[in-house]
Amino acid sequence: MTATGTVPQQAAVVIIGGGMAGLSCAASLARRGIRDVVLLEAKTLAHAKASSFGETRMFREMYSDPVLCRLAQEANRLWREEEIHAGAKLRDTHGLLFYGESWDEETIEGSIPGARRVMDEQGIPYEALNASEISARFPLKPKADFTGLFEPTAGAVRSDKVIAHWVKTAREAGHQLIEHCPVTSIDADGGGVALEGGNHISAGQVVVACGIWSQLLLAPLGLAPKLEVWPMLWAHYTVDADLAPRYPQWFCFQQERGDDGGLYYGFPVLSTTADGRPRIKAGIDWAPKELRVAEPNAMTTEPPARLLELLDTFLFNELDGVQERVETVMSPYSMASDVNFVLDRLSPKLSVFAGGSGQAFKFAPLIGDSLARLASEEQPAVDLSCWSHTRAAVRA
Ligand SMILES: Cc1cc2nc3c(=O)[nH]c(=O)nc-3n(C[C@H](O)[C@H](O)[C@H](O)COP(=O)(O)OP(=O)(O)OC[C@H]3O[C@@H](n4cnc5c(N)ncnc54)[C@H](O)[C@@H]3O)c2cc1C
Repeated sequence: MTATGTVPQQAAVVIIGGGMAGLSCAASLARRGIRDVVLLEAKTLAHAKASSFGETRMFREMYSDPVLCRLAQEANRLWREEEIHAGAKLRDTHGLLFYGESWDEETIEGSIPGARRVMDEQGIPYEALNASEISARFPLKPKADFTGLFEPTAGAVRSDKVIAHWVKTAREAGHQLIEHCPVTSIDADGGGVALEGGNHISAGQVVVACGIWSQLLLAPLGLAPKLEVWPMLWAHYTVDADLAPRYPQWFCFQQERGDDGGLYYGFPVLSTTADGRPRIKAGIDWAPKELRVAEPNAMTTEPPARLLELLDTFLFNELDGVQERVETVMSPYSMASDVNFVLDRLSPKLSVFAGGSGQAFKFAPLIGDSLARLASEEQPAVDLSCWSHTRAAVRA
């Protein structure tokens, strides 16, 4: 497949990668009036092998980390502006239930006690529920010692609609979004990129937004943050039509037991199968250590049988009314050891977003705005030092 669109020889800004980060940056640059922007995507925009594919992502302020909680509040403010620009709702607010065991440890998504503490401190509204209140309200089967927190103002970002909105915004501003156009290298000074086939684009600024593949372009410059690739399993399941309106958006915290990492999540019914059956999306929120890799192209893309068995077992045993698994997908997390992102300027002409883990989509308008400011030779509007590329957790 060859590049779609004519490849220019120079641009004010070159963005590498057409997922959440690259496209949100392109849309933010459009709104800032920056023209002459080229986005280069190796495959297709938000494709199924990368991290931004699918119809939904959770948004929440229910974080155990007070800094992420505040940044999520800022992102929600920007989502409201984004929805005004789009002239459409890009999120569904139906609440989010954290439920499960409480133990003295943070998981990659936080913890029930930690989130409660931070929501108390920051005045975020929530309901505390016990196991019988959870099972009375939702088609879930919590164990007797489970507790829950329900954040009513959380919900789902309609990620596929958001992607379409950013693409439209960028194209209307005259940005070139070029698919099937892999970048093979970045100039040593960050001032341009080389493409497969020998073309070169000189750029005022380059933004690297290549998800798990960012390492491959940054390593030759000695600028790759230390990140792992985690293969993550998710699926759609059909559910009993009578129970369909009652499924919550949920995240279940349980301690690791043997090869069961214990962390599972799911969405309400937000879509149907082609033949009209209501379906929920659910997934596993851990990757076995032996499947985590440093080399992005070494990630397994076939769903491992044991993970499928664990996900099916949870869905069929811990929820009521789940009928059949109808679609199974593996998507990568780009993970820093502190489960936080990298958004930073690497050199005067080069900026990056990477390490989005399972959490970055909810921050998308903040990520896009911050990358656009860096590419406009400004600073992000809020303090993002927790996402620095020089912090110990990501320093190679
Ligand atoms: C299963 C799953 C569930 C998630 N759930 C949530 C959630 O509920 N809430 C939440 O907030 N976040 C969630 N996330 C996280 C969020 O979706 C990701 O962090 C985010 O989508 C990452 O976007 P990205 O643009 O960094 O990477 P990607 O979407 O992977 O995009 C990178 C793009 O760069 C392209 N590329 C790579 N190399 C090159 C090259 N050399 N030249 C040109 N193009 C290149 C790739 O083809 C790809 O299209 C989830 C992620 C996954 C995988």
